[in-house]
Amino acid sequence: MSVETTNKDLDKKDYTGVNEYIKKVLSMIEKDEITKEDAEWITRETVDGFREHVNPGFLDYRKSVTKDKQFAAVEWSDSGSCFKDVNGKEYIDCLGGFGIYNVGHRNPKVMKAVTDQLSRQALHSQDLLDPLRAMLAKILAEITPGDLKYSFFVNSGTESIEAALKLAKMYSDRTTFIATTRAFHGKSLGSLSATAKGVFRKPFLPMIQGFRHIPFGDIEMMRKTFGSCALVGEDVNAVILEPIQGEGGVMLPPDGYLKEVRALCDEFGALLIFDEVQTGMGRTGTMFAADGYDVVPDILCLAKAFGGGIMPAGAVVATEEVFRSLFPNPFMHTTTFGGNPLACAAAIATINVLIEEKLPERSAEVGEYLLGKLRNVAENFPEQVLEIRGKGLLIGVEFHTDEIGYEVSKGLFDNGVLVAGTLVNSKTFRIEPPLTISIEEVDKVVETFKLVLEKLNTN
Ligand SMILES: *Cc1c(COP(=O)(O)O)cnc(C)c1O
Repeated sequence: MSVETTNKDLDKKDYTGVNEYIKKVLSMIEKDEITKEDAEWITRETVDGFREHVNPGFLDYRKSVTKDKQFAAVEWSDSGSCFKDVNGKEYIDCLGGFGIYNVGHRNPKVMKAVTDQLSRQALHSQDLLDPLRAMLAKILAEITPGDLKYSFFVNSGTESIEAALKLAKMYSDRTTFIATTRAFHGKSLGSLSATAKGVFRKPFLPMIQGFRHIPFGDIEMMRKTFGSCALVGEDVNAVILEPIQGEGGVMLPPDGYLKEVRALCDEFGALLIFDEVQTGMGRTGTMFAADGYDVVPDILCLAKAFGGGIMPAGAVVATEEVFRSLFPNPFMHTTTFGGNPLACAAAIATINVLIEEKLPERSAEVGEYLLGKLRNVAENFPEQVLEIRGKGLLIGVEFHTDEIGYEVSKGLFDNGVLVAGTLVNSKTFRIEPPLTISIEEVDKVVETFKLVLEKLNTN
């Protein structure tokens, strides 16, 4: 009886309206060029959709929305170092999706690998052996530092951290983890335990037990923490850190710090987990930041640029000794989509582009050039700019206040340069463009930075 009623109700539901809407949206996706009318429709639908069905909060935070919400920049297409909004205005992308676009937007080689794979098989059976996963894992064993050898594939950064933490827990029964203040490792409950920002953690306490946060860069504090944990019988399982803190505002490690952390881990029999979700894939001037600091972790986490800005993809790579704990039962940690053929094709092509176009080296060179130029500009604005720091094309510009940072990032945006920096968090903004960015584009960024600061000064 009840089944019958449900079926009748279902039959009664009229999908005509929503399907008309769906067809309109599909026709927009299909278009090579959109008209002015289309652009207006898309903008209206986007702003309304965010307000009514996504989250109206976003409309208050984005610098792409004017205060009266009359104007909203809605993105529509991208290529190279740039993306365009629906009205055709072009922006140089110095935010780079927080480090997604290392090989540029829609890199042709990555596109080709993904579309070739797509035209044959998109996702894997989940039962037969999928070839690209094996090949990508072999490639990673080759290019990652030291004796990192086995890979587990995931879809995002936070998932790579989850996998790393579970791997570490499988490896030993120690329950203490050392993380650092200002760290960002993701927002799912496991990785959030390692993330340091109170505002993101507080509503979800308690986190996974056993995490201790100590100041990034303070090796004495780390030594003491290792010691006291051992004394009370709560030995450290692993230290987890970003070699260079990204979200924390591009915080570089003090000289020798990472090597000393490695030594402490060895002394106390703990693992070292490097979260290179943002610093990996050539971002900081070497394939991995670990290479640049000559330190080999036991577990390496990758995501963001790993999928070449085309596919969501990530990986956790570990030594055989550590990964071995998953050999007896590989189903102890699984994900349906992780390591799917499209993602693997994207990652393989991405690594090919990084190698053949020498993008890690390019990142080092262009990064040094950009850092120097930005510092030259900043010298004339000591009242506004506090410090500019970075390595490779991961650069942080720190202002004296949030307000100045927001004004500058908004000014840059209005002049066609996108950098991170929101209404609530702009004291330091990151500049992390595609590693393929041209020198002309870099010069335009510097020129615009100067213009915006000058204008700010005269206002
Ligand atoms: C972005 C980021 C993450 C989280 O990645 P998601 O894909 O957003 O889950 C983790 N660690 C670092 C260092 C990151 O920059």
